[in-house]
Amino acid sequence: MSDARIHTWTVGYVTTIWGVVEMSLNTPEEIEEFRAGPEAFYARRHSATVEQYRAWIDTDGRPRCAGHTRKGNRCANPISGPARDLAVHARLDRSEYCAIHGGPESTTDRR
Ligand SMILES: [Zn+2]
Repeated sequence: MSDARIHTWTVGYVTTIWGVVEMSLNTPEEIEEFRAGPEAFYARRHSATVEQYRAWIDTDGRPRCAGHTRKGNRCANPISGPARDLAVHARLDRSEYCAIHGGPESTTDRR
């Protein structure tokens, strides 16, 4: 039996800050791209780099302060609550300063 119209359909799974998501891979090129790097694939689909994707995961989506500590390390304080969207996080991360580094009052409470 042959049927040229068989629907081939592939999905890939990527970890996000709210769980694992299913991404449909619609072309051989997409399947290849996904196999080469699921994180890079997800990042590209959300207008971000792999580094920005990893920062999003590492911070649970909380964009970080653009300042530095007295020792010269990057400040780890969040400047806002979690961004569910990678592209939003990528835009906000390291873009503003926390209250300690002269930014507006932090919107993150410390419950
Ligand atoms: Zn800071």
